[in-house]
Amino acid sequence: MSRNRGRDTRPEVLLRKACWASGMRYVLNARLPGRPDFVFPRHKVAVFVDGCFWHGCPDHYQQPAIRADFWLDKLVRNRNRDEMVNCQLSEAGWHVVRVWEHTVRRELGDAVALIRAQCKS
Ligand SMILES: [Zn+2]
Repeated sequence: MSRNRGRDTRPEVLLRKACWASGMRYVLNARLPGRPDFVFPRHKVAVFVDGCFWHGCPDHYQQPAIRADFWLDKLVRNRNRDEMVNCQLSEAGWHVVRVWEHTVRRELGDAVALIRAQCKS
């Protein structure tokens, strides 16, 4: 499954650096369903940073005017895939944390706190 998203897009780098700076030691490139952006194996926490456009953020997603059907279809497929990945991971005992790109950009501390809370639970 290809997505138009590199492995090192900016918001995910921002978030993982902030985690590292607060002492949380993540692992990259875990071989798990959906290829999480980074994981905390000891706590079985898998983190995804979801792009506002690609994953259909309720606050920022804007339907492109051109080829609207194509983009809507793409969004539906991305969302279905997100749900499937969530299920697969939780069945395997992982906690899934999905953070919106806008949260990383605007409320980085909150995003880190959310992940930290998952690592403690
Ligand atoms: Zn957003």
